[in-house]
Amino acid sequence: MTRRRQLYEGKAKVLFEGPEPGTLVQYFKDDATAFNNQKKGTITGKGVLNNRISEYLMTRLGEIGVPTHFVRRLNMREQLIKEVEIIPIEVVVRNTAAGSLATRLGIAEGTQLPRSIVEFYYKNDELGDPLVSEEHITCFGWSTPQEIDEIMSMSLRINDFLSGLFLGVGIRLVDFKLEYGRYWQGDDMRIILADEISPDNCRLWDINTNDKMDKDRFRRDLGNVAEAYQEVARRLGILLEGGPRDMKGPAVMQ
Ligand code: C5P
Repeated sequence: MTRRRQLYEGKAKVLFEGPEPGTLVQYFKDDATAFNNQKKGTITGKGVLNNRISEYLMTRLGEIGVPTHFVRRLNMREQLIKEVEIIPIEVVVRNTAAGSLATRLGIAEGTQLPRSIVEFYYKNDELGDPLVSEEHITCFGWSTPQEIDEIMSMSLRINDFLSGLFLGVGIRLVDFKLEYGRYWQGDDMRIILADEISPDNCRLWDINTNDKMDKDRFRRDLGNVAEAYQEVARRLGILLEGGPRDMKGPAVMQ
C-alpha cells in the first residue's frame, strides 16, 4: 500500500488524502468513546461493520436523491469520500425520547414523540458539544439561514426514509446524529451529507423487545456490543449468517 498523508484523526475515524483531487479516504477504527471522551474502549470489528453499514445506508439515501459524500468502499475499513468543508453543527433527529432529551426534560426513555424533533449541537469538544438554536448558528456564522433550511428538510427526509428502512428489518430508529458539509465544484457549492451513519451515532432498538442495538450498549456497559452491531448488519442483509471469520472483523459479503 502506498503511503498516504493523514489529514485528521477523530475518535472513531481517520481521514487520509484521497487518490484524486477533491477526495479523501475515510478509515473506520474499532475505538469507541463516550461522554465527551471520558469513557474509552475498543469494540472489536466495529470499524469493519460501520464502514459497511454507512456505505449501505448512504447508498440507499443516494438512490432517493439525498446527496452524500460517499463515493465507494475501498476495503474492509476504508471508503472513498468527497472532500467537504464540514459545517460545525451536529444535527440530531429524534422520534422517541432517549438519552440527553430524556434526561434534560425529564421525559421517560421510550416515550414516543408526537412529532419528530430536530436539534442542533455546536461541534466543539472543549465545550462538550452544547445544544444551540438556529439563532446561535446564524449569529456566529457557523451556517447561513438558507443552509439551515436545507439541512432541516434533508434531515427530516432522511429520518422518514431511514425509519421505514429500519422498521422493515424489525428495528426502531429512536434518534440519530448527522453531519453535513459544503461540497465545492468550481464556484458552485452544494450541501451534502457527510460523516457516517452507523450504530455509533444512531439509537436502534429491536421493535419487539426494545433491546438496544447501538453504542448505548458500550456507554451503559450492557455487554455484547460487537454482537449488537453485527445483528444490525445481518438484518440489513450485509453480513453473512456465519458471523466473524477471523479476529480482524466479521465476514462481509462482497
Ligand atoms: O446523547 P443524545 O441523546 O443527545 O444523542 C442523540 C443521538 O445522537 C444518539 O443517537 C447519539 O448516538 C448521537 N450522538 C452522536 N454524537 C454525539 C452526540 C450524540 O452521534 N456527539
